[in-house]
Amino acid sequence: MQSEAHPIRFNSKYSKARHNFLTAASGQATLIKSWQHPLRGIAGEKLYLDLAWFGDLAAKKVLLLISGTHGVEGYCGSGIQVGSIRTGWHLQADSNVAIVMIHGLNPYGMSHLRRVNEDGVDLNRNFLDFQQPLPTNTFYADLANVIVPENWTVETQMETLDQITEYLANKPSAVADLAKGQYQYWYAPFYGGEVPSWSNRVFNQISDRYLLDKQAVGLLDYHTGLGQHATGQLMSLPVNSEAKYNLASEIWGDKLVVTGSAESVAVYSPQGTLIAALQAKLATSNCIAAAYEFGTIYETEVFHALRADHWLHTHGDLDTRQAVEIKQNMLDAFYGVLPQWQQSVCNLAFTAQEELLSGLRSL
Ligand SMILES: [Zn+2]
Repeated sequence: MQSEAHPIRFNSKYSKARHNFLTAASGQATLIKSWQHPLRGIAGEKLYLDLAWFGDLAAKKVLLLISGTHGVEGYCGSGIQVGSIRTGWHLQADSNVAIVMIHGLNPYGMSHLRRVNEDGVDLNRNFLDFQQPLPTNTFYADLANVIVPENWTVETQMETLDQITEYLANKPSAVADLAKGQYQYWYAPFYGGEVPSWSNRVFNQISDRYLLDKQAVGLLDYHTGLGQHATGQLMSLPVNSEAKYNLASEIWGDKLVVTGSAESVAVYSPQGTLIAALQAKLATSNCIAAAYEFGTIYETEVFHALRADHWLHTHGDLDTRQAVEIKQNMLDAFYGVLPQWQQSVCNLAFTAQEELLSGLRSL
């Protein structure tokens, strides 16, 4: 496909975003494969995790782009993927480096405008070894029922926010505990689950089948909701392998920060992330991976939208005007409807993709 006059095509309805992705990829991809999710979407639609492979299946290196790890955040990543194809960027895939896109890794959350999946699980805290004792997080023992109170009125919202603010003021170290993940309170945010989720299992099948024998894999996992509006931050994990971090920072330079560091928009270092799991699996090859976070609205508003959504799915009624408002706030928190925002995130993403591609070629 040649570059088109208006190649950027974002859509915040799951079935339309998926249609845009498959339409762009069809006729272009060497392989398109879809895994159907057992449940249905918000409008009763079928849900899938889709994979499009550009270039040679036997290529020794793979550049992988993922959208929808955090459900609702997937509309941004989907737009970037669709734009990457519609601008013809994927045509650079060849027999040496394949370009692979996973669309809607957590399709349930994406369709239902949730950051979590069908079980309330934050997929990016779910890639843990569940045979081992799970991490504990005392912040949630103290505050899970304050973050997600039983009633969601103006009064309870103010009251509980005051309690959270006071707690954090007395214990500043708890700011990191808030988002780093928890495994005890299914109804609260950042819950990592008790077993590998559907998306986790499918992703593992994909990586076992298609990535395990590669010489190098470069990954960009697209996220939203942290940082300044329409800006982006590339984040890698504090990995145990210095060499891999160096490779990533050679590719992306100063743009790359480590999560949990002073420069990072994420003040925490989460456990059980997809990136950590993939890097562990591909320990003998080069796995260069980063999450790209794009800013939307103020983080306090993002947190408010998130709390409301967790309240709605725990104590609320989905069939109300209040539910519609809460869902709209979730979309506003994790997606940008303005063309300027979409163009900005695409420009940032396309540059990082291009840098990753030349980095992979140079290995
Ligand atoms: Zn995210």
